[in-house]
Amino acid sequence: MKIGVYIHDGFTFEPRAECPYHWGLDAYERYLDWLSSTGVEVVEYCQQLGWYRYPALRAELERLYVRQRLIDAAHDLGMAFWQILGTNLYSRLPWDQIPPGQLDIAESDCTLCPRDGDGFIRTAELTHYFARCFHGADAFEVFAGDWGGCGCGRCGVEDYIRYVSYHAEHLREEQPAAQLWANLWSISSWQKRPDGPPTGVADSRWRRMWDDEIAFSQRFLDALDDAPAGVGVAFPLHHWYRGFCQQWYAADELPFWPTYDLLNELHGKGRQLVAWTHFIVENDPYHGRLWGTLSLRLRYIKQLAEQLAKAPFEAVIGNVYSARQAVNLYGFVRLMRDPSLTVGQVLDDFVKEVALPSGQAQLFDLLVVLENRDPWHDDMPSYSRLPAVAEAGIRRDQLEDSLPDLVHHLRADAPLLLNGPSDFVRAAAAALELH
Ligand SMILES: [Zn+2]
Repeated sequence: MKIGVYIHDGFTFEPRAECPYHWGLDAYERYLDWLSSTGVEVVEYCQQLGWYRYPALRAELERLYVRQRLIDAAHDLGMAFWQILGTNLYSRLPWDQIPPGQLDIAESDCTLCPRDGDGFIRTAELTHYFARCFHGADAFEVFAGDWGGCGCGRCGVEDYIRYVSYHAEHLREEQPAAQLWANLWSISSWQKRPDGPPTGVADSRWRRMWDDEIAFSQRFLDALDDAPAGVGVAFPLHHWYRGFCQQWYAADELPFWPTYDLLNELHGKGRQLVAWTHFIVENDPYHGRLWGTLSLRLRYIKQLAEQLAKAPFEAVIGNVYSARQAVNLYGFVRLMRDPSLTVGQVLDDFVKEVALPSGQAQLFDLLVVLENRDPWHDDMPSYSRLPAVAEAGIRRDQLEDSLPDLVHHLRADAPLLLNGPSDFVRAAAAALELH
């Protein structure tokens, strides 16, 4: 199983130097170096969706040029490069203005109904254009929704299939070496929801959405025999590992979907499969309290790695929006490669990579405390929570007192700390304060 990382430069945050939205080629090349140094084998890129339009501004063209160069930069480091494509996306933000960060724009400004007039061909051809811009990518992945999908009441899963088939056809002609994946993320967006979509994180309509994700994925799979043979399927696996999904189910209600039987059956028919496990390495800014701090959830990454090891996936893709999740990223790669490692072993190895001998014990204790208090754990329903890592002898008050001094005991040149020891300690302090 290849190990990949999804990078997305949609969200804006401070300091700008650490925020991919603002990066030029040099900063991006450093980032790819960092990913490569952890053992990542595939890098998958998605642009901020306000830019999902034909570029016209000089700054926009330069931005696109930098992203095009990532293909060669990834290849030079021995990594494959995959590009994410949308479905009915078409940014209608003012063409002569630089779009703000994705938190400041609306999905409705970036989508068109494919059944309204020439909506399908306008959106499909824009995506065709982006596939040409990223000529040379090893794979393209067509996202079902979020952003994308249409709740007009006429659209349905067949519209998503139409996009997948459209892009399979032009890729076969123009980039026959490239793999195409159909990613079922948010496929239930292709419906008019009877009671509207869920809004806040506490909205009980989420339960219906998670059920619909399965139902609509099944509809897609039922029609899959009609799709071109080379199209692989990427599964988000929400029900396998995400507390945000599982918390809406009682213990005896939670479905394990897709089942291993289903995955083996698809694999047996020659379909290639990807596990697209979003948010396990880094949460997005919509989960306010989790965003931007150092997050540790190695117990849950290990559990996911054990699940994936039993299934015929070609690749697993995690998500990294910034360099702040060095520990989770390191653990993700190590554990996906060898799920039998213990969390303690992974933490110990990470600590030896980034800390001087004088700071290793302190950093290890700090990471154990953060691991045991990560908000990811609180999001899980009680029946899915995993036991804590042993904390015998760790004094939290001592950790807090000595934290400012930790920066002097980290290696300034550790490749795993992309933004250096100060940034790492700042993110760790913010995380400790959360708990
Ligand atoms: Zn529609």
